[in-house]
Amino acid sequence: MPLTVNRPARWSWRTLLPWIVGVVPLACGLAVMNWQIERELRAASQATARQVVEHVDHILDNLANAAQVLLPLAGSPCVDAQLALRSQVTRNAFVRSTNLFQHHNLYCSSLFGDFDEPVDAHDYTDGRLWLMNGNSVTPGHALLVYRASDGDRGAIITVDGDHLLTALRLIGPEEALQIRVGNAWMGKDGAVQDGVPPAAAAADVTLGSTRYPFSVHGGYEAGKQGELLRSHYPALLSLLLVLGVVAGGACRWQIRRASSPRAELRRALEADEFLPYFQPVVRKGDYRWAGAEVLMRWNHPREGLVRPDLFIPYAEHSGQIVAMTRALMLHTAQSLAPYTALLEDGFHIGINITADHCRDLSLLDDCQTFLQHFPPGRVRLTLELTERKLIEATPVALELFAKLHDMGVMIALDDFGTGQSSLNYLRQFKVDYLKIDQSFVAMIGGDALSQHILDSIIELSAKLGLGIVAEGVETEVQRDYLARSGVDFQQGYLFGRPMPASDFLKALAAQPGGARLPQGAPPEIMRG
Ligand code: C2E
Ligand code: CA
Ligand code: CA
Repeated sequence: MPLTVNRPARWSWRTLLPWIVGVVPLACGLAVMNWQIERELRAASQATARQVVEHVDHILDNLANAAQVLLPLAGSPCVDAQLALRSQVTRNAFVRSTNLFQHHNLYCSSLFGDFDEPVDAHDYTDGRLWLMNGNSVTPGHALLVYRASDGDRGAIITVDGDHLLTALRLIGPEEALQIRVGNAWMGKDGAVQDGVPPAAAAADVTLGSTRYPFSVHGGYEAGKQGELLRSHYPALLSLLLVLGVVAGGACRWQIRRASSPRAELRRALEADEFLPYFQPVVRKGDYRWAGAEVLMRWNHPREGLVRPDLFIPYAEHSGQIVAMTRALMLHTAQSLAPYTALLEDGFHIGINITADHCRDLSLLDDCQTFLQHFPPGRVRLTLELTERKLIEATPVALELFAKLHDMGVMIALDDFGTGQSSLNYLRQFKVDYLKIDQSFVAMIGGDALSQHILDSIIELSAKLGLGIVAEGVETEVQRDYLARSGVDFQQGYLFGRPMPASDFLKALAAQPGGARLPQGAPPEIMRG
């Protein structure tokens, strides 16, 4: 159908919907997988943090044991305690140095013996633990210090930061892990920093020890989720992708189907968008309006009034023309019936029909219904047959034409002379009128040969006793020539263009000597 009935904006819902339908399963699937991965990551990061806490707890247990052994010695002279201090370093794998303090002074060290350094309990979280960024022996090297006291005496045990680092690196090789003690923390680079450790981008967890004042912070870097998604779910991802494409494709197909010309015509029919336009047919002599041809127009909501040659061929092709003609006849009858007083007796109403109408007898009922709207004899229904689709003389078609004839319905051969089977039709069907095609009328005043053809058609109709209608009459020269040739009826822009029912009735009422208008006629027709 040349008419583009659906000319959507570039991003109309018709374009967007398939994308949405395609993307939704993918997005839902991704969301579920993401949620699943997040859960897995959180569980993994919690388990790792727990392991690190347990490991550091274990190290600190060792330090606490050493401190318990040494605590009774605090306050005794360094010479007496020194051996015990060194023995703890040797026996205990995690202990790097042991020290004793009294009155805020570290006075004895496993490494140096007598010593003199201030000790401030406030440096230690809970008075027990201090994460240091090195000391005088190993400056810049992480050190965890454990302090146990009894009054103003006590023991100080250190463990090398490397033990913590090994725990962080081995237990959670793929995670961002930190150990925090008070306001200091250490990450996998081994450097001790002040403040709060940075939160991990994914599955961020913090787990504190229940026995010592430290906590472990874990989680994953950004991009871990995406990486897992790609490595763990390639099959599921592909399936989702296929599902999305299939769903989007199906949706697009469905939308296209719904907006096909066939569906659009069906919609238009249901919305009653096909209107009858009326073109007057005048009789010879006084050129009064003796009838009208009903021409279909599509009052399209977006395209406006659509010409029949843009949609009739498709309607014929798709077989919808029968239902459309039925609706058109009903519309025509309802428009004219209230104004039958305007119509002279035997007023011709021409309806165009095609081969599809001749496949069964339903046209009989349609004609019957149409005629029932008018007083008997007021209207002469004429069916105009074209040759666009060949009408076969099947038994059904022959029966149809015979019964139409019995009903008083007339048959006119439209566009006579243009097709190959015009003469065949004349023989097979009971034809009452020939409609001379406008191309022949246009030849009037032209070369002699063309004129001969026109004359021959007129002559033929006279010999066969058929009425004759000339269409496409545009000039007075054509009108007068046809009148002189004895043509019964004429139709063309010279007498009137196809017009809506209200204009047609108005013009009909305005004809000199026109019939009286009925009571209750709409004001626009009364004014006409
Ligand atoms: P058609 O049956 O031969 O109708 C005559 C066509 O010639 C109409 O075009 C009419 O407007 C146009 N016409 C009338 N007088 C003049 C004139 O003086 N000069 C010129 N140049 N043209 C004139 P329209 O209305 O566009 O219809 C075109 C065709 O569409 C019709 O040709 C008919 O074959 C088809 N059609 C229209 N309505 C229906 C319908 O309800 N059913 C079917 N099956 N076909 C229809
Ligand atoms: Ca016609
Ligand atoms: Ca015609």
